[in-house]
Amino acid sequence: MNQPRILDGKSVAAAVLDECRNEVSQLLAKGITPGLAVVLIGEDPASQVYVGSKVRTCGELGIFSRKETLPSTTTQDELIKLVQELNADPSVHGILVQSPPPKHIDEEAVIRAIDPRKDVDGFHPENVAKLALEDPSGFVPCTPAGCMKLLEVSGINTNGAEAVVIGRSMIVGKPMALLLVSKSANATVTIAHSRSKDLPAICRRADIVIAAVGRPDMVKADWVKPGAVVIDVGINRVEDSSKKSGFRLTGDVDFKDVAPHCAAITPVPGGVGPMTIAMLMKNTLQAARQQAGL
Ligand code: NAD
Repeated sequence: MNQPRILDGKSVAAAVLDECRNEVSQLLAKGITPGLAVVLIGEDPASQVYVGSKVRTCGELGIFSRKETLPSTTTQDELIKLVQELNADPSVHGILVQSPPPKHIDEEAVIRAIDPRKDVDGFHPENVAKLALEDPSGFVPCTPAGCMKLLEVSGINTNGAEAVVIGRSMIVGKPMALLLVSKSANATVTIAHSRSKDLPAICRRADIVIAAVGRPDMVKADWVKPGAVVIDVGINRVEDSSKKSGFRLTGDVDFKDVAPHCAAITPVPGGVGPMTIAMLMKNTLQAARQQAGL
């Protein structure tokens, strides 16, 4: 039985946050207090948890945070008005509207309303284009940026590697594929999705598998080439009566089944999740620096 390396996102994220803490002190010394506005619409429990930890992490680093909690009945116009107000607020360098918003809100229109210079999620078309152009002045979406950082810090060579990204969302799958294929990573990338034929066979080609689907325990041992590296982005709540909360978190990869077959794997929780928040903080500091002309 092979013992894979467990890629510990918590400790890598802690190191990234330490770097951020230093950078915050340097900015404060120059009279700049970096600021992040987080907008939460409605009562989605997972979103509440994510927003809570983003605001808490800002506090731990000395980043000013402005949390705006809106009822689920908020109209599109009201939300866009708030975004415009945040665009104009000089104490706010980064703006994040927690996804998913209620169904009556057109998320695309809200993203386009955010000033691209404050779009620390990296979802605005201007930042999507900069990612495709490999222009470092843009913001890279936090989760794929976190996956890349985890690979890099763990010494995993992406050069010439076959990478399979499962999922084609604008939040994870597509930007992940762009980062892997970029001139700094040089992987050969396949993007698989819900209409892909024979997904297990596609996955078996991969030296690096990135699963970003949202289906608990979907990736099984016989999908993974022996010795591959597996990054599990999925965060799924599954019922578990043994837990006080009534649920537990699981990834898109069947960890117990897959781990013995691979060289390295991320756990859920404690893998990609903490990296996402750390990269959000990094993006907020990038925004503060850029807006101060540094
Ligand atoms: P999404 O629903 O927007 O996209 C899911 C993708 O999976 C789609 O592109 C779809 O084509 C593909 N897909 C669906 N069913 C499939 C199937 N049977 N076979 C192959 N592909 C299939 O989701 P998302 O926002 O990209 O998130 C994906 C997962 O990652 C979710 O579990 C989400 O909670 C998690 N997530 C985690 C973090 C983090 O910080 N760790 C951040 C964002 C999202």
